[in-house]
Amino acid sequence: MSAFDPPPVPASVLERCRAVLGPAGLVDDPQSIEPYVTDFWRQHRGRTPAVLRPSSTEEVAAVVRLAAEAGVPLVPQAGNTGLVRGGIPDESGRQVVLSLERMTRIREIDPRGEHIVVEAGCVLETVQQKAAAIGRLFPLALGAQGSCRIGGNLGTNAGGVNVVRYGMMRDLVLGLEVVLADGRVWDGLRTLRKDNTGYDLKQLFIGSEGTLGIVTAAALRLFPAPRDRRTCWLGIDGPAVALDVFELFRAETGEVISSFELLTGFGVEAACAHLPGVRRPLAEPHPWHLLIELAWTFEDGLAEKLDAVLERAIEMGLVRDGTRAESEAQRANMWRIREGQSEATRHMGFIVRSDVTVPIGRIPELVERMAAWVAANAPEVTLIPFGHLGDGNLHFNFVTPPERVDTLKPLLLERLYDEVTALGGSISAEHGIGRMKREALWRRRPPLEQELMRRIKKALDPQGILNPGVILAEPEEGL
Ligand code: FAD
Ligand code: ZN
Repeated sequence: MSAFDPPPVPASVLERCRAVLGPAGLVDDPQSIEPYVTDFWRQHRGRTPAVLRPSSTEEVAAVVRLAAEAGVPLVPQAGNTGLVRGGIPDESGRQVVLSLERMTRIREIDPRGEHIVVEAGCVLETVQQKAAAIGRLFPLALGAQGSCRIGGNLGTNAGGVNVVRYGMMRDLVLGLEVVLADGRVWDGLRTLRKDNTGYDLKQLFIGSEGTLGIVTAAALRLFPAPRDRRTCWLGIDGPAVALDVFELFRAETGEVISSFELLTGFGVEAACAHLPGVRRPLAEPHPWHLLIELAWTFEDGLAEKLDAVLERAIEMGLVRDGTRAESEAQRANMWRIREGQSEATRHMGFIVRSDVTVPIGRIPELVERMAAWVAANAPEVTLIPFGHLGDGNLHFNFVTPPERVDTLKPLLLERLYDEVTALGGSISAEHGIGRMKREALWRRRPPLEQELMRRIKKALDPQGILNPGVILAEPEEGL
């Protein structure tokens, strides 16, 4: 027996959990379980005998202790918007979901210290709103922010549209409270800006996708809220020009760039045709587009700065056409096109999706290589790369005829990961590994890195009960 092949979950363990959590704290009727075992796009479905829903750190600790005693695997889940099947159980029916969704307290908010202490079940958008209410910014922002939760943002080390300015989730964390695999609670909820006291333990848990501990609360950094924000939309020739525009904006506006997003003409036209109420920001179609946002704390003056850079970009011949959002509605329209890239093309076929990164200067090469490969080997597939150019991170959507998905999906993804690896990149930029990219990762990870990762897992979760099958492959699989 191994962690991937545990015995069925004993009914007695679930009954003891129910006794600890109360009737609202355990869900076991099949209909109510459904949303917890199905992924966001409803493409994958796991099985579980029950969902545990603790409402406090003590309750999390108590059920983890019970699970540890009985060797029952737990799958931590927050908002279940993850895209790599890390937050839903496998198909064995032998993993129990541990949902943090009832842990939604804001424990502390401090404008002067610029931090907020929240529980892991807080919805990201709620945290943004709490910060805004005291004139501060919590900068993590992503398409799923209305339903993803802080525990999941930590589990995946989420990225999103403001990384170019504020960094990833791990850059926004001051401290964590974590329930360990044996049920003990690590209180690392410090709010210090500087703390050089040896290993930075919190960073181990961030991005570990629930495999090393269960985060119950976090102290997060806040920032001054920008008062002046300007958004523009540019039509351009392609990714190489996009890099020139990025370089120009970096030189002229530096740290005030908060988003720098690249889109294909195909994806933009699809959004305008299929998303209700969406309009193309520019009069004519263009082969590629950029969505750029600048923000600063001064009351005004940014529009003039932006206009000056745009003029320069036009003089340099980088931009085919461009416009600046003149109202919140225009800005929302631009972001709707960006966020709706997958939704707009869903009806065209099955979307094989992935999220990768290369050193930013190599983005054009990556796009060219993949486009050439698809044209030669899978012409029935439409390639739509888009996303966070400013971070060297693109999401690749391959719109694939449904009847060809089984054959093409592995070919497309393996080719993408090989190209990315050859270009010095990584097969996951922000969505994580989960169950989806596990084999792809272990095939490419150098042996020493594999060994170090296994040793960390063994040290923190010796029984292997925390999210088995996520990130790590079993050594005997030889992956
Ligand atoms: P879940 O899906 O519930 O869990 C994610 C992982 O974290 C799982 O492995 C889970 O086991 C683990 N986990 C959950 N809670 C805990 C906990 N308390 N302690 C330890 N581990 C835990 N992601 C980005 O990074 N950038 C984007 O721009 C982006 N855009 C998206 C747009 C859309 C429309 C969608 C659907 C998703 C997008 N995502 C994006 C992916 C997803 O929203 C993020 O990965 C998000 O951080 C997941 O949060 P969640 O609460 O839904 O986590
Ligand atoms: Zn993204």
